Amino acid sequence: MFLFNIQRFSTHDGPGIRTTVFFKGCPLRCRWCHNPESQRFGPEVLHNSERCVLCGKCVSNCPVQAITVGNGTLFTDAKRCTGCGLCADECINCARDVAGREYTVSQVMDTVLRDKTFYAESGGGVTFSGGECMSAPKELLSLLRECRQWGIHTAVDTCGYCEPDDLIATMPYTSVYLYDIKCVDPVLHKKLTGADNGVILQNLRLLKEGGANIWLRLPLIGGANCGGGETDALLKLADEIRPDHVSLLPYHNTGNFKYKKLNRDAGSFTAPTAEWLEELKGRFEKAGHSVKIGN
Ligand code: SF4
Ligand code: SF4
Repeated sequence: MFLFNIQRFSTHDGPGIRTTVFFKGCPLRCRWCHNPESQRFGPEVLHNSERCVLCGKCVSNCPVQAITVGNGTLFTDAKRCTGCGLCADECINCARDVAGREYTVSQVMDTVLRDKTFYAESGGGVTFSGGECMSAPKELLSLLRECRQWGIHTAVDTCGYCEPDDLIATMPYTSVYLYDIKCVDPVLHKKLTGADNGVILQNLRLLKEGGANIWLRLPLIGGANCGGGETDALLKLADEIRPDHVSLLPYHNTGNFKYKKLNRDAGSFTAPTAEWLEELKGRFEKAGHSVKIGN
């Protein structure tokens, strides 16, 4: 399977102390994503122009001639790049990184099992995230089964854009779904993410019908999904689904430096105000939901 990170001692991706396994590749293209290197399937080079002295060593060592120099910086042709990592190995200034590499199930489990004691003591476990972990359904299922055999709590962090049968297959082995809803309006959803949300809402209802433990995660992005009738629609959806928990996730720009390294535009979004968030939280509470601002 292709991952871009395995993060130990995470406290923001479900209950307790967790190991978060980040799959690379996502079917959505949310412009505010704070892990932009997670979106494309396959390897990706991040180039730090502030560290680069344009010595050209990486250019001459790239086996497929994917790197060119122009306008005082380097350009990497993503179509040619194989993700071999040679350029990063060669750079003595640590100006290059390759996001994404292949792992086997046993390699992932070796890391996961190191912190088994912490999971037990903190009520934590493993979270499969991304990118989109449901975009690699067979590999995800193997990992979920392994975790179940070891008695480890599992969370699937998903945007829900996947085959319904693949999602259903995960249910016997998943302790909680961290289910992201970007917005309810289908036209706005398509505009913001590039994808239709019909299957996302259908899959959420499937999980509900199957009795899954659902934590609804609502990214709130000023300049994208905080206006119009969206908040009313989110409340209506939450009232229908009655999730076990709701997380209101205000926009933050901590991933902007990665857009620069990927030579991509970070967009211009804002965080909703604290007053607006508190008011929204109050509306969820009034409707009887367990709700928190943040993860
Ligand atoms: S080897 Fe490093 S410092 Fe030299 S051009 Fe490549 S990225 Fe820049
Ligand atoms: S990762 Fe490999 S193929 Fe890609 S730019 Fe670097 S050296 Fe070239």
